[in-house]
Amino acid sequence: MHIVDGHEDIAWNALALGRDVRLSAFEVRRFEQGSDVPARDGIRMLGLPEWLAGGVAVVFGTIFAEPAKRAYPKPQAYTTAEEAHELAQAQLDYYHRLADECEQVALIGSRTDLDEVLTSQESEKPQVGIVPLMEGADPIREPAEAEMWFERGLRMVGLSWRAGSSYAGGDASPGPLTDAGRDLLEVMAELGMILDVSHLAEEAFAEAVDRFAGRVVASHANPRARVPGRRQLSDAMIRRLAERDGVIGIVLYNTFLRPGWSKGDPKEAVTAADVAAAVDHVCQVVGDAARVGLGSDFDGGFGAESAPLEMDTVADLGRVVPALGEMGYGEEEIAAVMGNNWLRLLQETLPE
Ligand SMILES: [Zn+2]
Repeated sequence: MHIVDGHEDIAWNALALGRDVRLSAFEVRRFEQGSDVPARDGIRMLGLPEWLAGGVAVVFGTIFAEPAKRAYPKPQAYTTAEEAHELAQAQLDYYHRLADECEQVALIGSRTDLDEVLTSQESEKPQVGIVPLMEGADPIREPAEAEMWFERGLRMVGLSWRAGSSYAGGDASPGPLTDAGRDLLEVMAELGMILDVSHLAEEAFAEAVDRFAGRVVASHANPRARVPGRRQLSDAMIRRLAERDGVIGIVLYNTFLRPGWSKGDPKEAVTAADVAAAVDHVCQVVGDAARVGLGSDFDGGFGAESAPLEMDTVADLGRVVPALGEMGYGEEEIAAVMGNNWLRLLQETLPE
């Protein structure tokens, strides 16, 4: 069984916090002892040894720069499109360097790359393949520039993040697509890029999903029916994504899995059964198990302290399997949820 994780902020963590993903999560935890990083950004869950131990074959690795809307400086934050562009270029450079320097990491830009990574899983030297995903499109300074990003390996783009972007409203600031957003969708579709609708404002979501001619995903978003809020997907949005042949990655963040759970609450209050319940909700709404996968976000501003009981590191993703089994899912459906749905989408979308 191949495990695919639809959302990890690997480059941001490397460049903003100095977290080397080649190191074990436990080693990084030792380095960070006594610093304010674990309390602020979460207890480290990712690392190459943990990917390999957990059988994680493919990860969507984000390029994420934060709009600097606050008065105090934050790492990897921008105020202009120029700054966003530079930060994002450096993050994409990071992924290229990582793949160049580390033989167990590969960048996936084509079906051939994907096949190689999957074939390597059966060998003595399995590789982890990273598909570059931009979270918030401000680094693309104008729609036509998407082509340059595509040539450099970018395969998936989310138009906005929380406060929105020059392309669309975000989940924390309602708004439609802008004209530039409409143009960008056109260029992306021509290039064969995948659109990630996570963090889009609902108004922008509706238009983007109707308008975009390419494939649509939500790399990391959970059902609103289980945890309310604009960051999550309503049943109507889930249905719409399924109609457009999309896949939704369930976030393994306790706040998004159990209503009322907030940072500092006991980790044990949320379990793999809650993850399975979120998966099951999507399956019930769309009528099959072909539209849902995982998008852990395990290094997206939280860590092991805010992940379900069974999840100490990314090596534990497989512990969702028995929880799905207990809900009555069969082997094939479980394999679909754990990775095959994402893999099918990549196989159908990536260039040769
Ligand atoms: Zn996010």
